[in-house]
Formats: sequence, C-alpha cells, structure tokens
Amino acid sequence: MKLCRFDQDRLGVVTGGKVHDVTAAQDEIRRAAPYDMKGDAVIAALPAWRSRIEEMARKVPGKALSEVKLLSPVARPSKTMAAPTNYKKHIAEMAARRDSGGEAAKRLPSDIGAAGIFLKSNSAIVGPSEGIPIRFPDRRNEHEIELVVVIGKQGSDIPRERAKDYIAGYTLGLDMTVRGTEDRSFRKSVDGYAVLGPWMVTADEIANPDDVTVTLHLNGELKQTAQTRDLIYDIGRLIEFASLFYTLYPGDIYYTGTPHGVSPVKPGDVLRAKSDPIGEFEIKVRAHQPGA
Ligand code: MN
Repeated sequence: MKLCRFDQDRLGVVTGGKVHDVTAAQDEIRRAAPYDMKGDAVIAALPAWRSRIEEMARKVPGKALSEVKLLSPVARPSKTMAAPTNYKKHIAEMAARRDSGGEAAKRLPSDIGAAGIFLKSNSAIVGPSEGIPIRFPDRRNEHEIELVVVIGKQGSDIPRERAKDYIAGYTLGLDMTVRGTEDRSFRKSVDGYAVLGPWMVTADEIANPDDVTVTLHLNGELKQTAQTRDLIYDIGRLIEFASLFYTLYPGDIYYTGTPHGVSPVKPGDVLRAKSDPIGEFEIKVRAHQPGA
C-alpha cells in the first residue's frame, strides 16, 4: 500500500496515479492516541487499521495526483535519524575535498561505527509540494538522495536479523545540506532540508530493501544513482546500530546515506527523486523569505 499525506493534512491511499482520501481513518486514530505517546499515531496504528484503510480507499473516488499537494508521508516522527558516509564512492568524493577547508578540518571518522549516525530536526521535514527554501545562497547547498526507512513499531536493542519486523515502509528522502564548519546536525536541520516523499510504500511491497535503485535528477540531468546493495551498513545493521543507543518508535525516520554525485543547488532548480518500487516526486528549490 502507498500511503500519502496531502493538501491540508489529509491522509490518502495512492493507486494507479490517484489519491483516495482516507482522512476519516486518520481522524479516528488521532482522537484515540494518547497525547504523551512517542511517535506517529497513524504509523503506529497501521497494523491494526490497514485492512479498514484499504476498504475505505476502495469506496471513494480518487483524485488525480497532479491535483493534490503532497506533504511528508509521516506527520510526527519522534526523531529523524541519518547515516553519514554509507557508500564508498561518496566517502571518496568527500575526502577529495579535504583541502578545500570547511568541513575538512573537523572531519569525523568515515566508519559509521566510530562516527555514529546523526539527527536532523523534525522541523526540517517537508513534502514535495512545499519546496526547499535556501537561506544561505552564497554557501554551498547540496542535495543528497537517500532511501529512507520508516520505523513501524517500538524497539530497542534490535538484532539485525529481526530489523525488518520493525519497518513500516520506505520513502525517498533528500538530506539537504549546507556545507561549512558548524556541527552537522545544525547544517542539515535548516527548514526544508529534510525532504520526504512522494509517499510511504509499506514494507510488504519491497521484498529486499537492500537491492533498490534510487536516482536524483537536477534540472533534468542525472546526478546521483544509489544502489542500496552498495550500502556499507545495510538496513538491518543501521537499525541494529541506532537501537543500541535509543529506542525506535513508530514513524521514526531513518535516512540510509547518500551515494556519490552530490552537487550544489540554487533557487530556481528542480530536483526529481525516483525509485521504481516507490515512485517519484519533483521539488523546487527556492529563495527563503526572511521572517516567514
Ligand atoms: Mn546524508
């Protein structure tokens, strides 16, 4: 099942290019969710609600995808995790910048086990319709296309062999970055710098997430191709590693790392993310409006 959020916080099921509105299910789930729960109520309720949601979707006429504004498929993750340096060729391209100043002086170990993963602010999350506002046009702002895992249930100390039991689904992510000397989570938490879309594909639709291809086009030109079989830490190991440090909750977002080919973006650019088993979306890069 492909689950999206669209327009004014509506929930939809996507089939054949159409969005079927199942917001009534979202309303009921949220009403029953305790305020102090950690994680996203809809993702947490999905195992219990899935067949009802599919039934509701079948009963309502669809709206063309082109007529809706897609939002992030998850409304309230408890955290947004991200793996750095998880493809060898990306490590090499960043190492080649060693003499260019900026991050070079503060470089962390490239091994995830030594460097750890990092967190992006949840307030940076946007969906495809919202655009990416650039606050620092004079600095190097770059795209990083990544396969993103959405956690499906609470878990801690999860062994990699059981990691797939904790996955609700997958989506595409852009881990946008301002390059510079500041702490990584600071530079990667600018509003709009955690793009998620076009929707979440439930885990049952992707038999092997460690063999998925994801591409990124900038203004129609292919810039990045990620093949998740090249991940240094595969998805099971990423989940195992994160859950040694913190409990994972339903709706938690996990960027799995970017391949080589990162390049600068500027206002006016259009990014297109695509993966056959998931889908595709376009997002516009624009200037930040001060004070907005
Ligand atoms: Mn990244």
